[in-house]
Amino acid sequence: MRTRFDCGTQRLKAKRQPIRDEPPRFLMKLPEDIDKELWFTVPDKCHGEKHYLLGNPHTFKGRIMAWCPHKETSFFVSLKEMKELSEPARWWITGYLRGNEPHPPINGDGDTNFDSKEYKAWEKACDEFHESGVWK
Ligand SMILES: [Zn+2]
Repeated sequence: MRTRFDCGTQRLKAKRQPIRDEPPRFLMKLPEDIDKELWFTVPDKCHGEKHYLLGNPHTFKGRIMAWCPHKETSFFVSLKEMKELSEPARWWITGYLRGNEPHPPINGDGDTNFDSKEYKAWEKACDEFHESGVWK
């Protein structure tokens, strides 16, 4: 004999699938200082679910400290590892990477020669840095 409770149980069982096939249905509780709008995904982390930007880990240029609500821990990530980003996260990273650029090359007098080969190479490296988030 089926009861109302059984019907509910059946429904729950029907939804249960391997976790990688389930879309994120809810956000786990986030620490209060995390901005929920600054989310991004990394394909091989937590089945592509949302993670959140935190700040500068002061390790490598362009490296970002982020929060994983699933493991409740911070981790380091670069732009090139991310797949999807919220619009606010994209702007946050754009500003962050501009601010993380190393100084342009200078000559012996401490001046920047904007026409030099070194300066052109620095500009090219900056363009690549803005795309990947990794300084080479
Ligand atoms: Zn995670």
